[in-house]
Amino acid sequence: MPVDVVWFKRDLRARDHVPLLSASLSGRPVICLYILETERLEQDDTDPIHIQWELDCAADLSRTLNDSGASLHYGLGDATEVLEAIHLEHGIERLLSHEETGNSWSYSRDISVSNFCKSKGIKWIEYPNNGVVRRLVNRDGWKRERDKRMRDSLSSPPIFKEGIPFDGTVPELEDIGFTPRELSYRPEPGERAAIDRLDSFLERDGKEYRWAISSPVLSIKHGSGLSPYFSSGSLSMRRAVQKTNLRIDWIRKNKSQVEGHGDWIKSLSSFRRRLAWRCHFIQKMEMKSDLDMVAQNPVIDRNMSREMNIEKFTRWKSGKTGWPFLDACMRQLSSTGWINFRMRAMMMSAASYNLWLPWRETGSYLARQFIDYEPGIHWSQIGMQSGTTGINTIRAYSMTKQGRDQDPGGGYIRKWVPELSMVPTKFIHEPWKMPLELQESISCVIGDSYPAPVVDEVESRKSGISRSYSARGGEEARLISKEVLKTHGSRRRPMKRKAESSTSTQQKLF
Ligand SMILES: Cc1cc2nc3c(=O)[nH]c(=O)nc-3n(C[C@H](O)[C@H](O)[C@H](O)COP(=O)(O)OP(=O)(O)OC[C@H]3O[C@@H](n4cnc5c(N)ncnc54)[C@H](O)[C@@H]3O)c2cc1C
Repeated sequence: MPVDVVWFKRDLRARDHVPLLSASLSGRPVICLYILETERLEQDDTDPIHIQWELDCAADLSRTLNDSGASLHYGLGDATEVLEAIHLEHGIERLLSHEETGNSWSYSRDISVSNFCKSKGIKWIEYPNNGVVRRLVNRDGWKRERDKRMRDSLSSPPIFKEGIPFDGTVPELEDIGFTPRELSYRPEPGERAAIDRLDSFLERDGKEYRWAISSPVLSIKHGSGLSPYFSSGSLSMRRAVQKTNLRIDWIRKNKSQVEGHGDWIKSLSSFRRRLAWRCHFIQKMEMKSDLDMVAQNPVIDRNMSREMNIEKFTRWKSGKTGWPFLDACMRQLSSTGWINFRMRAMMMSAASYNLWLPWRETGSYLARQFIDYEPGIHWSQIGMQSGTTGINTIRAYSMTKQGRDQDPGGGYIRKWVPELSMVPTKFIHEPWKMPLELQESISCVIGDSYPAPVVDEVESRKSGISRSYSARGGEEARLISKEVLKTHGSRRRPMKRKAESSTSTQQKLF
């Protein structure tokens, strides 16, 4: 009897998984499949931390499937070759999966799989993922459809009458010849851990969310920390949205029992908006699958002519720019695989405006650092934070201002940049201003123990902003920006948003 194959990609969960549920109801034997695609490992945006995280989440999924009478089969290599081998042995009737919004590489892989299925008469059914809607030409009606999907009911792990056993286990990274990259912190992998984290955020840690998420320190405790789980698909967006709605309603109804209920409501409402942003940004990549290769406004990008400068790039990557707060953030990121939104934006702004480095190289580097790497959000944000969309305000962050706002006492800098541990608070954000005698007395000579700033922060920032606005000038660039806004712009406040011209936008200090 032919089989149904459920192909797990970045949707490694058993609950609220419609393809899995559908296969369990088909009456055919089911093969649950996870493929570690070797070609993916060669992509610029892939790092062992992503694969390790996925393998750990897959191992957790495998245990859950075993409990429900199925097994997770594991394949290594090219997706079509793995599917072909299964087809030869069992005969595949249907291939069931979620629609994936990945990078340019996964888009072309999907085309190959689709061709393979057609050639073998296999029916490939792809189910919608999150709030991302396929085949949209613009954003009209998108929000309505996304909100409707978020209201659909959740499903439990199905019970399988006939799962085909798999004689093996999900491998460790070393087993396939890769050296794992140690992180100083890793979240607990898997679906149960994801649901527990969501619950503890909604019931214990989330009250301070609204004001805490801009800080690289406080966001660790009061941010949801859910992004790695969303990127591996261990948690469905629908579950997160529904649980958040329930919690907000409960707090509203039980105000007298909830200390700081006003803060709770504001924080959870703000969190709920970010969940919607996730879908909004991934939708951009769904509608422009080469966002990781080609800027939304290629004319602006071309006009900018950013250049690779290996010394600047290396200093930025290794946290040795001489700007203490940025260096601390770069080092936290490479050590832990995670940092909060504001600091991600600042890192990208430093690379794009102060150092004038090309976004594709800096964006790929950051992608490899983020354990929660999600192509749709990532490349949309890289475009926004490097000024190449043509429709967003240019946000060039001041590192010293951010440092003073987020780390006034310098404790965070001293932790991640131990060379500066003896620097008095007065100079911690601008150690190059210390008198030489002081530098010598605390054994922190700038240019020796710790680098002098790679370029002048204020001047480079001004120059980066001004070059970026100049790149927006010209009829061709403006016409494309208008198109980008028409196709991808949020429909929330159409009257207030318009494509920016080089003269209409005020420079802002972030
Ligand atoms: C340059 C840059 C690159 C980024 N790359 C990624 C990435 O690869 N993967 C990723 O998940 N996020 C990315 N983000 C967005 C954001 O920084 C992270 O989602 C957030 O820091 C994750 O932490 P959290 O789960 O505690 O977030 P919370 O603040 O608790 O938010 C909950 C969830 O909402 C979504 N979310 C939050 N902020 C945003 C946002 N600005 N845009 C879209 N969705 C959002 C995420 O799914 C997040 O898990 C990037 C931001 C920037 C500026």
